[in-house]
Amino acid sequence: MIVVTTQEELRSYVRKWHKEGLSVGLVPTMGYLHEGHASLVDRAVASCDRVVASVFVNPTQFGPGEDLQAYPRDFEHDCELLEAHGCDLVFHPEVSEMYPVGGTATFVELLNDMPKQLCGVTRPIHFRGVCTVVSKLFNLVNPDKAFFGQKDAQQLSIIRRMVSDLSYGVEIVGCPIVRDEDGLAKSSRNTYLSAEERQEALVLSRAVRLGEKMYKDGERSAFKVVEAMKAEISKSSLACIDYVSAVNLDTLEAIETLEGPVLVAMAVYIGKTRLIDNFIVGA
Ligand code: AMP
Repeated sequence: MIVVTTQEELRSYVRKWHKEGLSVGLVPTMGYLHEGHASLVDRAVASCDRVVASVFVNPTQFGPGEDLQAYPRDFEHDCELLEAHGCDLVFHPEVSEMYPVGGTATFVELLNDMPKQLCGVTRPIHFRGVCTVVSKLFNLVNPDKAFFGQKDAQQLSIIRRMVSDLSYGVEIVGCPIVRDEDGLAKSSRNTYLSAEERQEALVLSRAVRLGEKMYKDGERSAFKVVEAMKAEISKSSLACIDYVSAVNLDTLEAIETLEGPVLVAMAVYIGKTRLIDNFIVGA
């Protein structure tokens, strides 16, 4: 597996592959990789001739007071996992390689309400940072396909919209949430949890299963489903709900009836750690 740290090296490898007529898949990550990330690499390897993964903790998507400094990092382990799953090249730039001193003057930002909903209420600059770094990666790699997890469902909907609005010639592939055996969605941030918090964090996946079952049993009131999920989460004394919301999957607008493609998403603090989970119906 090739490891590169500069934009120039990345471009030159990818240009060569494109010249040879090979298709290129991109898996953007912030590192501290787990089976969730690995599942994206597996999908990419299965459908592209060459796979590029990026490992970059992107400062522009962290707000003041968020966990940018504390975000877990283990590049050696990341490389082992990526190589074992057949990744061809990992791009691991320094912050100074991606952004000039003093920061970027140019951002890519959706100006509709999509980045303001759900996680955007408490993380107002988050999706601007995500769209900016993903745009830079698209410009560097010019991938045929890019792979994103449904775990970050709002991010996925926003990137689909950005790709459509800016006419990026890249196919966005959404991949299902990978969970631990007991149901907890895998996340790099799970490492922040104490043993007791890890146990209490199961309220998120329990709420997801409850919501899915209510839908399966015919309930179509978004209010009833959301309230039942909130009640389930509130059973944990360590859980503090940021939001539980039902929205249209494509527009992220709040909905009253679970009809068409619907995303039911949540963010919940377990102690100091903010976790997200969701399910999609009707898509
Ligand atoms: P991150 O490193 O957290 O920025 O995540 C990089 C990519 O991996 C994003 O597209 C995430 O949605 C995806 N991802 C993270 N956790 C999971 C998971 N448990 N299952 C599936 N995809 C995931």
